[in-house]
Amino acid sequence: MTDLRLDAETRTRLWQRVNETVETYMREVDGLKVAPELDPAKLRALLEPFDFAQPLDPLAAVDFIAENLTQYQVHTPHPRYYGLFNPAPTTMGIAADTLVAAFNPQMAAWSHSPLAVEIEAHLLRAFGEKFGYAPASTDGVFASGGAEANQTALLTALTHAFPAFGRGGARALSAPPVFYVSLEAHHSFLKAARTSGLGTEAVREIAVQDDLTLSVPALEAQIAQDRQDGFAPFMIVGTAGTTSAGVIDPLEALAATAEREGLWFHADAAWGGGAALVPELRPLLKGIERADSITFDAHKWLSVPMGAGIYLTRHPDILSRTFGMETAYMPRDGERLGITDPYTHSIQWSRRFTGLKVFLSLAVAGWEGYEAAIRHQTAMGDTLRRRLIESDWRMANQTLLPVVCFVDGQQPDGGSADYLMALVRDIVTGGDAWISTTRLGSAGKTTLRACITNYRTQPADCDALVKTLNEARRVAGH
Ligand SMILES: *Cc1c(COP(=O)(O)O)cnc(C)c1O
Repeated sequence: MTDLRLDAETRTRLWQRVNETVETYMREVDGLKVAPELDPAKLRALLEPFDFAQPLDPLAAVDFIAENLTQYQVHTPHPRYYGLFNPAPTTMGIAADTLVAAFNPQMAAWSHSPLAVEIEAHLLRAFGEKFGYAPASTDGVFASGGAEANQTALLTALTHAFPAFGRGGARALSAPPVFYVSLEAHHSFLKAARTSGLGTEAVREIAVQDDLTLSVPALEAQIAQDRQDGFAPFMIVGTAGTTSAGVIDPLEALAATAEREGLWFHADAAWGGGAALVPELRPLLKGIERADSITFDAHKWLSVPMGAGIYLTRHPDILSRTFGMETAYMPRDGERLGITDPYTHSIQWSRRFTGLKVFLSLAVAGWEGYEAAIRHQTAMGDTLRRRLIESDWRMANQTLLPVVCFVDGQQPDGGSADYLMALVRDIVTGGDAWISTTRLGSAGKTTLRACITNYRTQPADCDALVKTLNEARRVAGH
């Protein structure tokens, strides 16, 4: 029988093979097709022999995974993956995740992993400061991603507005709660409304202006209408960097409306929050310091491996009020030391040490390293925009952040959904680059979407994408 730990000699060979696998992938990923063939039957046949009846050699098992992940995935670390905020992972982040798996700290109780918990708290204060929060009142929690951070925001906002919510749930409230997002907001808020028991009808999707930012007059009209109709508004969400178009809602105005109306203001800066680290981009986020809570995803613009969401708040007691629990079986040392145990403070209970990949990446790169990476990506966004315009592609969004939405300006039907989706299929199947389509605004007009999501993307990669697009346009017969 194989010992789950494996013997020392096997482990030594295993680590070596894993190291070689990682390094080979990092060196060779640029030469791979960005996207795989999509054939479910083939993948199931590949896995069919794994009936787990016979133990497998550890190195053979690793080789199987290395070979087939290389073959069967979209290579998000590829410099011509122009995708959905999935970065090339930092090398320190890869190392950190390995260390976390080996040390396996349990983040539920402070006394089990005091250093790990304090590292996360230290990081939360540091990021809070970048967003303009006072360190003394900053609290927060690491989450699996932006969706969990947004759900945390919804639950804290509910607890803040309706102290009865924790015990009685939505049915205990005298009026149905509603909250406000823009039409361009991330759909994790709809999921959060479902999983929190409010239901998706509690989400008011407010119209956007031509520039795709939330319309404040439309918001204020809807709040007034809702109050008149007997609903109980409790939260406004501003998106700082929309998923489709990288647009930043008017955070200052939203903060003012929220203050005047007595509503929680949440800023979803899952991706765009990276702008807080660059002095010349920081003004774009003006007003975010007035948010009651902020979502920031380190696995997006901070390029750490998935998943690493961050929820921040300037209300130091709200997480405990939302998630506080007492049990007989959890360690109690925290109480004696005046410490809050993380399991009383988050949706998750047992929790992985997510903060280490952020800590080691930031410690080694410094703020300066991140500033340079984010600035570079922003410049590559500008380069891509310029090159596209030179080839008669027409811009469909306005943002200083590196998300480019565009249609074909050369053709009368260059904005048709069928045409643009065919172009994307052609490009993705060809394997030279990965881009996508999205729909924008109240009219839901289809556009192509290319995001500079990789800190290694260079002007030559932008040129290559434009060349591929031009070729796809030509092949399509236009
Ligand atoms: C990506 C994204 C989310 C969801 O984050 P996950 O990490 O995928 O859970 C939420 N909001 C915005 C604006 C996003 O871009």
